Amino acid sequence: LLAGVFSWTGVNERTFIAVKPDGVQRRRVGEIVQRFEKKGFKLVGFKLMQASKELLREHYWEHRNRPFYNKLVSYMSSGPVVAMVWQGLDVVKTGRKMMGQTNPTNSLPGTFRGDFCVIMGKNVIHGSDSVESAQREISLWFKESELCEREGCSAKWIYE
Ligand code: GDP
Ligand code: MG
Repeated sequence: LLAGVFSWTGVNERTFIAVKPDGVQRRRVGEIVQRFEKKGFKLVGFKLMQASKELLREHYWEHRNRPFYNKLVSYMSSGPVVAMVWQGLDVVKTGRKMMGQTNPTNSLPGTFRGDFCVIMGKNVIHGSDSVESAQREISLWFKESELCEREGCSAKWIYE
């Protein structure tokens, strides 16, 4: 497991972000990446992929008994997703703030879901809800060799 070899705390905290199929089809990838970059987070993993239903069922395991589970898995496999890992101080919590609420109706303007979409069943983006979820999701979606850890050249201008 990735968790064993990498310290996920402080400036090395990581989160799993995915642009969902509607976000990819509606060409929101660039702006989502841009906002994470502008904020000061570091991109350490990125791939465009068609996710299998098996992977998606595992990813959304916590919702397996919810009435929307099958629909959710179909939605998420309806086209390619952009799977990403972003790193930085408090990136999990901040990523969730940047996303907005699960229901776009409750999401403020300035958030991805507040700006880009209207319904829960097509809400454009996924982000891990805790550091523990992030660890689980990153090891589910990425091989260790696909993550590019490196010294960020602007770190001294972002952190003390
Ligand atoms: P998130 O962490 O904000 O993405 O929300 P959840 O983990 O609670 O739910 C996962 C995803 O399932 C959401 O992003 C929605 O796409 C979808 N979802 C959640 N609740 C509902 C619902 O009541 N109806 C439908 N159609 N989709 C839902
Ligand atoms: Mg969730």
